[in-house]
Amino acid sequence: MHITELVLDNFKSFGRPTRIPFYEDFTVITGPNGSGKSNIIDGVLFALGLARTRGIRAEKLTDLIYNPGYEDGEGPSGAREASVEVVLDNSDGKLDRSQVVSAAGSEDIDDHERITIKRRVKETDDNYYSYYYLNGRSVNLSDIQDLLAQAGVTPEGYNVVMQGDVTDIINMTPYERRKIVDEIAGVAEFDAKKEDAFAE
Ligand code: ATP
Ligand code: MG
Repeated sequence: MHITELVLDNFKSFGRPTRIPFYEDFTVITGPNGSGKSNIIDGVLFALGLARTRGIRAEKLTDLIYNPGYEDGEGPSGAREASVEVVLDNSDGKLDRSQVVSAAGSEDIDDHERITIKRRVKETDDNYYSYYYLNGRSVNLSDIQDLLAQAGVTPEGYNVVMQGDVTDIINMTPYERRKIVDEIAGVAEFDAKKEDAFAE
């Protein structure tokens, strides 16, 4: 299972619909400082619902919507909606096809090799809304998370190494570093359960 394409629309610095192809083995994105490389990763975290613990670089969800006056510190104006779609190649069947079908409806059963996960954020005058779609069907975040967990992609996981993470890891105390190893090895989950049990 791998990402084949990312479609950013009005997301952060991408004011126009932008398609970014990803190759199966290795893709490098280069560009000057501030050109939007990290925004692409933010797009993946946003769309896949992984942002909770790994931190998208935005104070609030609506800061992710393209704002032409961003650099000048101006407030937003005009259409307030952004979306990111992640296109996955699931030809290896890593993600359970029946789960996709039950969450997204049966019409997409023939198209199980190509899975799309999309998230949209929409701002109104007094509120904002966030929607997830699986193969075009509106779903809950938990549907997306249950599906991705089969491929080991979880909000708590270390699937994405953010800018500065390597330096952070070097600067950590051995105890903090050990906690990361526990998390990756799956031991942390049992430690948490043990603590809960003792608390009871
Ligand atoms: P570096 O090499 O320094 O890490 P980068 O290529 O990773 O740079 P990003 O952090 O992805 O750069 O992009 C930062 C740019 O995105 C800034 O110029 C900022 O103005 C722009 N930006 C962020 N949010 C928005 C937004 N909501 N609307 C418009 N532009 C935005
Ligand atoms: Mg960057």
